[in-house]
Amino acid sequence: MKYIVVLKYGEIVLKGLNRGRFELLLMKRVRSVLKKLPGKYELHNSQSTLIIRGDGDADMRNAAEKMQKVFGVVSVCIGVECEKDMEAVTRTVRENAAEFFAGAKTFKCVAKRGDKAFPFISPQICDICGGAVLETVGNIKVDVNNPEVILYIEIRDGCAFIHAGGAKGAGGMPTGSNGRGMLLISGGIDSPVAGYMTAKRGVQIDAVYFETPPYTGEAAREKVESLARVLATYTGTVYLSCISVTEIQHAIAEKCSERLFTLLLRRFMMRIAEKLAVNVGCSALITGESIGQVASQTMEALCCTDNAVSMPVFRPCIGLDKEEIVTISRRIGAFDISTLPYEDCCAVFTPKHPKLTPTIAELEEEEKKINVDELVERALAARTVKRIDGNNE
Ligand code: ATP
Ligand code: MG
Repeated sequence: MKYIVVLKYGEIVLKGLNRGRFELLLMKRVRSVLKKLPGKYELHNSQSTLIIRGDGDADMRNAAEKMQKVFGVVSVCIGVECEKDMEAVTRTVRENAAEFFAGAKTFKCVAKRGDKAFPFISPQICDICGGAVLETVGNIKVDVNNPEVILYIEIRDGCAFIHAGGAKGAGGMPTGSNGRGMLLISGGIDSPVAGYMTAKRGVQIDAVYFETPPYTGEAAREKVESLARVLATYTGTVYLSCISVTEIQHAIAEKCSERLFTLLLRRFMMRIAEKLAVNVGCSALITGESIGQVASQTMEALCCTDNAVSMPVFRPCIGLDKEEIVTISRRIGAFDISTLPYEDCCAVFTPKHPKLTPTIAELEEEEKKINVDELVERALAARTVKRIDGNNE
């Protein structure tokens, strides 16, 4: 008798002919997480679930915890398996009762009969197992309406699986099932959340960070690397490009209207990110912008930002209030990093009175005063790339 981990996958079940492809990608991601854990594991795909079995060195609780950060998994159950035979099931319930019911005063049983040929029907399985619990555990009662513990007895194709309920998985779609996207990641709260939301839908994320040395330093870059690591914990690996925009900022500050500074810089970021995206096979840009949050995110300003590139720009935070973004940021483990106090490259030359209703025409007019293409090429040529692996690896 051994602990096993059962992963239920959600939306993939609804896929038609493509389903196999999604399952393979999910299994690939699960295997890559398991490979880094002590012990040896086997993975089986059966009846819309993945079953993980481990050898003696495997820490199944740890494995189950790691699986909660795999996109495509909706619930993670840890439990015991036994032969598909009523006597073995009852014995297993008794032997593991102390663990399943630790201190609980009420319970109920739920039987799921995946194998319809099993000679006992669900109410009989519940009756027999419930009786075994009452005999084995002192001071416990059945409460069908509001039980502290629900004991699930699943009669599956190859075995019986007994557990006390699952933890919530990350949901979404398996990483890599929906192409690649280039995230513009700053050290702030919004962009890591935007990256997470896109990654959740199966998009493999690459990231680019724009820095302004010597105004922004090593600590600011390390903060962005830590944020990229939060994303990589869900997706496996993030390739983070760092690009200096110091020369660009100086050129804008020297030649262009101060009130348009932030937007002019943002348009440079978009152009550079787009070229990088094309180079590495990403088909969209992702930013953390939300309508009206700051002067550079008014409707007019966002349209001017968009206009600098022809690649689609995804902004998953567009309709979220700051508070809602913060809730997600905390949940995914990014908030405490995002709020560390390091300098932001956009803050270096921030105008006192930015223009709230800029037009594309006036931005283009300002851009004639500097050599945009050359500045873009030079910034891109000096980029550095770092491979960031997640904590799940
Ligand atoms: P964030 O919290 O993500 O920094 P923000 O509310 O501070 O967002 P801005 O500073 O206006 O907003 O930036 C808007 C978006 O532009 C960011 O969400 C991010 O996608 C991108 N961006 C801003 N600064 C940088 C940077 N230094 N490097 C890469 N991308 C950036
Ligand atoms: Mg910012």
